[in-house]
Amino acid sequence: MDAAADSALHIKPGSPPPSLAGIRCVMMDLDGTVYEGDTLYPTSLPFFDALTRHGIAWGFVTNNTSRSIDSYVARLRGMGIPLTGRDRVVTPVLSVADALRTEFPAFRRLFLLGTEDFRQEMLSLGFEETADSPDDRPDAVITAFDKSLTYGRLCRAAWWIRNGVPWFATHPDVFCPTTERTWLVDCGAITACLETATGVRCRRVFGKPNPDMLRVMMKRLGLRPSELLMAGDREHTDIESGIRAGARTLRISTGVGGGTAETRADYRCPDLGVFRRALFPEDDV
Ligand SMILES: [Mg+2]
Repeated sequence: MDAAADSALHIKPGSPPPSLAGIRCVMMDLDGTVYEGDTLYPTSLPFFDALTRHGIAWGFVTNNTSRSIDSYVARLRGMGIPLTGRDRVVTPVLSVADALRTEFPAFRRLFLLGTEDFRQEMLSLGFEETADSPDDRPDAVITAFDKSLTYGRLCRAAWWIRNGVPWFATHPDVFCPTTERTWLVDCGAITACLETATGVRCRRVFGKPNPDMLRVMMKRLGLRPSELLMAGDREHTDIESGIRAGARTLRISTGVGGGTAETRADYRCPDLGVFRRALFPEDDV
């Protein structure tokens, strides 16, 4: 493939051009899609600005449960992103809370393997946290992206899992991209560790590729699936979640997932700038 062809927008046969697709909301992955580490891609802010000018809602959907939604909103605004409100950021915390309330209403007291942000957010959603004690049996164990993981709490989670306590994980990612000289072990790897140690499979994994977070946004904004576009760099999480939700999908080539051109997405292009010009050809910028 030559460089010129690879810098263009590719449209899957049968999918309409972006400008004619009837998109009313764009939900984006964060790491590797909007920024890398602490650095926004130069195409990000002009894309948000164009969406706002054209009356298209936009927001972010991330699997990363090490931060609360309020913490994300503060971080994103601190990077100069003009977010309109906290209802434009979705993490698996909302899916977990929704599932526990509707499908497992008896599960109120939880052993939480997560950061202080995550644990406080679960408490704010009406759940209780059990102590790190063999005498305080929880209704369920939840594993998240626990950047404060300690061996004692990992073993406590394993103990409850071995003793038949139902167990859920917030998302499947085994590592989190970073520009720093380290490798961030994520929820999926912590979950795999517990599965290996206990011989018990986690009951359900939330987060992308599960389409649950996109459904939260569709419900909030009253959208039909085809009116929502999911944009991201990872095929098996971002694009898969969009397809399962019935949404339109955009695969961009930035980030860790960008190395391969093979995709099931409706649209593929190098970055959000190329897509902006295809979505708003009349802007001519
Ligand atoms: Mg990503």
